[in-house]
Amino acid sequence: MDLRLDLTVAEGYKNPSQIARRLTEDWATRNLYCLACTSAHLDAARANTAVWDYSCSSCGALYQLKGQNKPFGRRVSNSEYHTKMRAIAAGRAPHYAFLQYSIPAEAVTDLFVVPGHFLSSAVVERRAELSADAQRKGWVGSNILLGQLPEEGRVDVVKAGVSRSPVQVRDEWQRYGFLAGKKGGWAADVLSCIRVLERETQSKDFTLRNFYARFESELASRHADNRNVQAKIRQQMQVLAKGGVLLFVDRRGRYRVVA
Ligand SMILES: [Zn+2]
Repeated sequence: MDLRLDLTVAEGYKNPSQIARRLTEDWATRNLYCLACTSAHLDAARANTAVWDYSCSSCGALYQLKGQNKPFGRRVSNSEYHTKMRAIAAGRAPHYAFLQYSIPAEAVTDLFVVPGHFLSSAVVERRAELSADAQRKGWVGSNILLGQLPEEGRVDVVKAGVSRSPVQVRDEWQRYGFLAGKKGGWAADVLSCIRVLERETQSKDFTLRNFYARFESELASRHADNRNVQAKIRQQMQVLAKGGVLLFVDRRGRYRVVA
């Protein structure tokens, strides 16, 4: 992966967001590879595609690119809210590539990708509607809450100016590949709750009762359309056990985190 930027593609542009767009799109078109399969190249979308910027012609993975010349904070403003929530509900959210570059270094310094299957209502925040006099009246944006993602919900491709081996990157991606296509972001949401519980209790073991007590109402409020939250939680435990993240210790609702 060649980390150098071609600054000439932004010549003549004055608007900082246009410059960022030109530089990062040019770089990504030349260098971004598919994390979900072994394809070394992604196709750029025609301009103005609402949900995605790049696609993989081998596996169909879709990517949205967000580039800037400073580190990403815990909350990143992003595309239209309702479109994104519909995609999550259908298990079709694109993957999000976050690219940081440096003009003085003329290079990409950091790049990480959040797999679409890690998006859920826990990490997507609704922004206020644009006001009446705004050009896009009624348009509702969203924020991606990077700070709420579990560690495995962000895969580093370039870290502190060094690109990682694609084999390693794709291995990391594949470990949670079983979440792909799961509707509503439930499995990812329950997984991030488990990570919180792990941190809070300093233990790999937990019971379904502890889990309900700590997260049931939180999950119910985030998935307002779902009435039987406990059943939904148990179903996600099965998904995570199948994916090799959990073990059923016994039949009375005791679990152990193994990955
Ligand atoms: Zn692919």
